[in-house]
Amino acid sequence: MTLNSKVTVFFVAISFGLIAMLVAISLFAFRSFSIASSTEHIRTAAEIVRVHLTEAMIDGVIDKRESFLKRLMEVQGLTSARVVRSPDVRKQFGDGILGESDTDAIETQVVREGKPQYRIIETDGDTLIRGTIPFIATSLGSPNCLQCHQVAEGTVLGAVTMMVSIGSIKQQALLTVAGLVGTVAVFALLTLGLIRRSIRPISATALNVETAVQQALRGDFKGKVEQFTKDEIGQIAGDMNRLLRFLDEGLSCITESVSRLTDRPPFPGENQLNATIDMVDGLTRAAHFKQAIEEDETKAEIYQRLIRAMEQEYNIREYSLYEVAPNRSQMAPLFVDGTFSGECRWCDPQILGRSDACRAKRTGHRVDGVINPGVCYAFQPPPEKSDRRHICLPILQSGSVGCVLQLLATPTEADRLASLIPFVNVYLREASPVLEAKNLMETLRESSLRDPMTGLNNRRFLEEYLETLLANVQRNRSQLAILMLDLDYFKMVNDTYGHDAGDAVIKGLAKVLRQSVRASDLVIRFGGEEFLIVLLDTTAEAAEPVAEKIRVAVEAMEVHVAGHVLRKTISIGISGFPEASDTFWQAVKFADVALYRAKDEGRNRVLRFDPKMWGDNVQY
Ligand code: GH3
Ligand code: MG
Ligand code: MG
Repeated sequence: MTLNSKVTVFFVAISFGLIAMLVAISLFAFRSFSIASSTEHIRTAAEIVRVHLTEAMIDGVIDKRESFLKRLMEVQGLTSARVVRSPDVRKQFGDGILGESDTDAIETQVVREGKPQYRIIETDGDTLIRGTIPFIATSLGSPNCLQCHQVAEGTVLGAVTMMVSIGSIKQQALLTVAGLVGTVAVFALLTLGLIRRSIRPISATALNVETAVQQALRGDFKGKVEQFTKDEIGQIAGDMNRLLRFLDEGLSCITESVSRLTDRPPFPGENQLNATIDMVDGLTRAAHFKQAIEEDETKAEIYQRLIRAMEQEYNIREYSLYEVAPNRSQMAPLFVDGTFSGECRWCDPQILGRSDACRAKRTGHRVDGVINPGVCYAFQPPPEKSDRRHICLPILQSGSVGCVLQLLATPTEADRLASLIPFVNVYLREASPVLEAKNLMETLRESSLRDPMTGLNNRRFLEEYLETLLANVQRNRSQLAILMLDLDYFKMVNDTYGHDAGDAVIKGLAKVLRQSVRASDLVIRFGGEEFLIVLLDTTAEAAEPVAEKIRVAVEAMEVHVAGHVLRKTISIGISGFPEASDTFWQAVKFADVALYRAKDEGRNRVLRFDPKMWGDNVQY
């Protein structure tokens, strides 16, 4: 119900109540007044009758009383008048003229008690006041009652009964009340009109404000409140418009900035406020994500955090995260559907060996299988999940695709997945530079631990890796064989064929060494043309044939340099850890002692450390 209707109903109800009260009070007042005035008239008329009857008694014309009573009837409003005799008078003067002895119940009571009685009698269309007034004998005055009546003072002589019609008074009263009601009603109508006119702008402004607020709750602050007046209500409308304009401009500004950050334009008809709140929320979470990954130590931790965000914040349960290998031609799955896995579950496994088969990796653009199902031939979901839609997002690092995040959804969930992409993109955008920095650091670290010429690990790598290596040895109670290798008369190569020829020999040697041992064994370029090999789970004794194999392979190695074929030999010293010493570096030293013993003994040979060598070679 509008304010206007409420006020109207309220005012009409009040007016009706007021009029009803007015009518009731007026009618009651008129009735009381009519009765009071009629009884007064009856009392006066009764007194006149009494005086007249007394005079008639004295004048001896009491017999003419009937015509007097008839004439009395001409008095306006008086409808009947009759006199009755008391038993005492009847005893003295007889029954009198007709009817003077036929007292009714009221008259009998009045004659008996000497007290007047009044009654209201409703007849068809008229209201009558009936009054029965007793005549009481008194000795006062002269002449007086007792002069004619032989009764004691105070005796009731009779009574006069008169009826007075108050019909005309009632009619007049009704007319007056009607006039009063009419006047009040006209006044009420005029007042109501005035009130309605005054509150119309309030009501219309309230309605406009309500519409604008409803619109604002739907995220649209473009509503306007019409300004009807220049008073406080107009002021409210103006202030409301100013507030709406301020909010609209503020929201537009925030939405635009946030949309730019999320690459998500506002959709027509959507609740802009809610969409912006969602976007700001997404950005805030992405900022926290960025803060966290910046402090992560490894790329694996970053990937894990990214996956957790997809699962926990966006409830994405099916996905793959692929990492493109440094050679760019291969890629490997890291996380698939919540597990750290090397499995290629959603795509043709050929993308692992030929990364360009992955459309997102090749193009560096989003591949949207929701909008365009079948866009990528490599997308091959398992048969029981063949209805899945996919969206693949590349994560760019240093200008090329470093990772591909593949998100999947059922057809019913596909729209929700598509709507999440701008938010997921924010995460990827935050992750991208951090992953890039981590890659760079890994490359730097890798290069600091690797000899650039041979590609073998260097001595620093051994120093860093040693703790892990020794912990494994201790845990597994295993043995390490340590081989120290040094080319024989290598200086001669440099001196005779030049430094480049020497480098070529070292590179060739590195290749032979790598090929001669297992992939899990460590081949370290220890110094210039000195190499250290650590054979895992091998005793010094068992290492001897391996060393011998190396020696033979080196002997057979041919290095072609500037039209020459160079052949070199190598000397190898062996020791065991913890067999020779429970200190690793001491065991290395022992291998070195054995190496120099091999040099001493003519080179191109393999010698295993013997504690006797240590005693014999204190100079080493
Ligand atoms: P020996 O049989 O006693 O080992 O004789 P050798 O001539 O090999 O003597 P030594 O092991 O002391 O020689 C080390 C030489 O190796 C010295 C240095 O010129 C050379 N050399 C070390 N690193 C490199 C390198 O990276 N490239 C080249 N071309 N030469 C290197
Ligand atoms: Mg040397
Ligand atoms: Mg040497």
